[in-house]
Amino acid sequence: MDVPDGGTVAIHAWHLWPDGAGLRLSSLVTGNSMIRFNHDGLRVAVLAVIAACSPGIAIAADAATPPPQDFLQAHLDPAVDPGVDFFEYANGGWLASHPIPASESSWGIGNAVDEQLYVSLRNINEQAARAEQAPGSDQQKISDFWTTAMDTAKADRLGVHPLDAELARIDAVQGAGDVLDTVFAWQPLGVDALFGVGIGQDEKDSEVMAVHVYQGGLGLPERDFYFNPEQGVAKIRTEYVGHIARTLALLGRDDRQATADAVRVMAFETALAKASRKLEDLRDPEKNYNKMAPADLTAKITPSIAWSDRLAAWKLHPETVIVGQPEYLAAVDKLLRETPVPVLRDYLRYHLVDGYAPYLGQAFDQENFRFNGQVLSGQKQQRERWKRVLDNEGNAMGMVLGKIFVSEYFPAAAKQRYVALVEAIRTAYGERIEKLDWMSAATKARAQQKLAAITTKVGYPDKWKDYSTLQVGRESYARNMMNAAQWHFDDDLSKFGKPVDRSEWEMTPQTYNAYYNPSNNEIVLPAAIFTVPGVLDAQVDDAVVYGYAAASTIGHEITHGFDDEGRQFDAAGNLAQWWTDEDAKKFQQHAEVMVQQFDAFEPLPGLHINGKASLGENIADYGGLLLGLDAFKKTEQYAKDEKIGGLTPLQRYFLGYALGWMSQQREEQLRSRLLSDVHAPAKWRVLGPLSNIPEFYEAFGIKPGQPMWRPEAERVHIW
Ligand SMILES: [Zn+2]
Repeated sequence: MDVPDGGTVAIHAWHLWPDGAGLRLSSLVTGNSMIRFNHDGLRVAVLAVIAACSPGIAIAADAATPPPQDFLQAHLDPAVDPGVDFFEYANGGWLASHPIPASESSWGIGNAVDEQLYVSLRNINEQAARAEQAPGSDQQKISDFWTTAMDTAKADRLGVHPLDAELARIDAVQGAGDVLDTVFAWQPLGVDALFGVGIGQDEKDSEVMAVHVYQGGLGLPERDFYFNPEQGVAKIRTEYVGHIARTLALLGRDDRQATADAVRVMAFETALAKASRKLEDLRDPEKNYNKMAPADLTAKITPSIAWSDRLAAWKLHPETVIVGQPEYLAAVDKLLRETPVPVLRDYLRYHLVDGYAPYLGQAFDQENFRFNGQVLSGQKQQRERWKRVLDNEGNAMGMVLGKIFVSEYFPAAAKQRYVALVEAIRTAYGERIEKLDWMSAATKARAQQKLAAITTKVGYPDKWKDYSTLQVGRESYARNMMNAAQWHFDDDLSKFGKPVDRSEWEMTPQTYNAYYNPSNNEIVLPAAIFTVPGVLDAQVDDAVVYGYAAASTIGHEITHGFDDEGRQFDAAGNLAQWWTDEDAKKFQQHAEVMVQQFDAFEPLPGLHINGKASLGENIADYGGLLLGLDAFKKTEQYAKDEKIGGLTPLQRYFLGYALGWMSQQREEQLRSRLLSDVHAPAKWRVLGPLSNIPEFYEAFGIKPGQPMWRPEAERVHIW
């Protein structure tokens, strides 16, 4: 579930690099810096799931009520030629009859799953709130969190006061040293200012937890928002200055002064943005890995920041730190010395208040929504409060809820089905690697080794995290969010110097999403992806299950282990070259075709998809489709070749894939995502990969000259 209302306190902020804003909007609890999420934020994805190798256990569901005809056929827009626009052909009927609700920035069939999850989670909360709970128990935490967050009268009464101590800290800032004191004090509170510091696996030694320092501190979702000349983005910049001004005014500044001050904050952030790396440049794991002694980082790059002392204050005494973007930190150091202190104070004020606004009184919450919800995402009105509270509760203490969620809503049988489907996809990948004509035997052997070593986590963690030290009470919503941020930060710090715990989950079981983590060489499939709203399992044939679940989820995640970034990690999860130079070069040549294909797509006039930034996701979609197809070809349904609803099994397979992306979004959301999300928009996740697959051409009779057609020489050939 994404949080378009802009709850912007990043719990585990640093962990969300490098996907930045795209991930900030999703309800995961944590996220390794390199983890690739599949459906993050996009709220696409789909119905249900599951399958295995025999028919009859496939389950899936349409939204709401059972359709009278075959459900795939019911989604089609028969007026559209599949060779002209396959996305519209496959999903146009459904999209036309399911407009985006006023409270949403996008709407798709995956919302049916989310809506059901909301109801389940609300039940859990309301039940907890109805009774007296033992102090310190999970139930007490849920009860107090829910009750306090839903109490709008209390939030209004408290206004901005929950932030008084932090605002006083800013008032006392006299120079760069004080600014840094504040920035370091706020790392545990999840307030994003200047840069992020956190603990995670060393990319080159996955057995070791290391200190990472990463670029950060921008109020807009990505660097490109500060510079892109497109009209809509320029308007966002203007609106952003107004938003900063109104936030300062809410703190008591007079309007004219607030506007002048906001312009200065924007100039400061623009200087930070200029020094920041671009979205696509954050995808190069080698370039974003700069290991050095803390003393050297101080001496050579940031003379104003005494890293050894700063880290020692958290009881961290690392021999080295891994710096993501040294040139960015050097620019921060320089800007700190050159920028007038009042501008730095306002920058800090804005970031503190913006981060915590959703948990404050109405005036702050609404100003936050006005920019983050309306301007950036195109929502017409706020999502209902109870849903926003559940989103934030998921961020704060998602695993506490998750434990109850799976005990009440996750059937044990589902796990085995998924595990079987993972193995079918693994086998298909192994066979495909053997057949590649461009890869040498030496690299193939290493690839097979990595494929065999991929571990799978399904449903929920084997051991639950102990949240007993997390304090949740009834003082204020904001206090509970601060406590949660602090708890997650401390939990992170506690991992330093200890062996890596590979059983940890970076996503909660109730998250409708999945991920691949290269440091653990694992795919992780949370329980919620098994959620089946309004089950119509008899209507779901293997073709759809393989197109949907096998291709767009499992095949997608496994392919991430071999995308442009994931392929640079070996079987043990270490950033290490296991490809021959020749094979690496060939991979890059094949991948470049994909980059060019996506660079050419222009979803909004003047805004193209970023082919480099989205390359990993596009390779994963393409690979997932090929693997799902190979596995589907081994089924009885494929062999029998009988039509259902007038559609052949092969047609149903590709329509099943498109069903996974049956979603539409508002222009504002589309624009923001084009600049900040490493995933291409839903429609192009269908158009792009399918146009490279010969069986797709065959299934729908795509003809030369049609928009979906690519001449053979221009198609991608990677896997
Ligand atoms: Zn992905």
